[in-house]
Amino acid sequence: MEREPARLPSWLRVRSPLGEATGRVREVLKKYHLNTVCQSAACPNAGQCFAEGTATFMILGRECTRDCRFCAVRPGQPGPPNPTEPERVAAAARELGLRHVVVTSVTRDDLPDGGAGHFAATITAIREAVPEATVEVLTPDFGGDPKAVAAVVAAGPDVYNHNLETVPRLYPIVRPGADYRRSLALLRRVKELQPAMRTKSGLMVGLGETEEEILAVLADLRAAGCEMLTIGQYLRPSRDHLPVAEYVPPERFAAWAEEARAMGFSYAAAGPLVRSSYHAGEAMGLKRYATRSGTD
Ligand code: SF4
Repeated sequence: MEREPARLPSWLRVRSPLGEATGRVREVLKKYHLNTVCQSAACPNAGQCFAEGTATFMILGRECTRDCRFCAVRPGQPGPPNPTEPERVAAAARELGLRHVVVTSVTRDDLPDGGAGHFAATITAIREAVPEATVEVLTPDFGGDPKAVAAVVAAGPDVYNHNLETVPRLYPIVRPGADYRRSLALLRRVKELQPAMRTKSGLMVGLGETEEEILAVLADLRAAGCEMLTIGQYLRPSRDHLPVAEYVPPERFAAWAEEARAMGFSYAAAGPLVRSSYHAGEAMGLKRYATRSGTD
């Protein structure tokens, strides 16, 4: 991989808004002892999303049984799933007045169902606590277990999100525990089980992938019936993670979004700071994170 570009380009230098709303989200997360991928994965948008009164809940622990070379989540042996977590996520979503609730998790290769049952319980709890909200889940690959995928689909999320993250050639370097075909098969399986369920996937770029490889991944996603897409810039969490090969300029993201829409994606968000659940509510046609309290 080439030498890492020295300076962060202007389009990636963001100032994290501080203020009341940000503090409130942190308070509620603390009150219910909840994790977010926003904090665990050091997302550059956390400040903005918190300021807009939303967050992506991360269930099933803070440590992951995998060790992807781009991810800031700590690898380790997570403890048993906490049975009160689904209710706590639901209570926090209600207290924050969320209209679109996004739930993700670490990968739990140590659990028989990979944590699918816990996802299903969390979706059900949110449905009961905030019936008017839409629910998006961003799941791991459950080791390719079709029963696990079926359990999550049966709980009825509005959006089933599973990230491919990068192009197949880079999988051994970037996400050694994952499998490109297995991840595509998961998205296809969701559509087979529930054709009306919206499926979504995300890519990060700047790791040395080529234009042809990116377009080939978009075509594979469309062939698997995926209709929602996000593309964002990889940012190195620490010196222990993969170096950035390239800071991709905004105009290339704009071109990919246009190309994706031409390929039939109903939603395509592409930009240096775009992340899987960034402005996820907008994809559901919701005004940007408008919460019941009317902050917008
Ligand atoms: S599986 Fe997910 S949470 Fe775990 S290290 Fe990889 S990207 Fe991070």
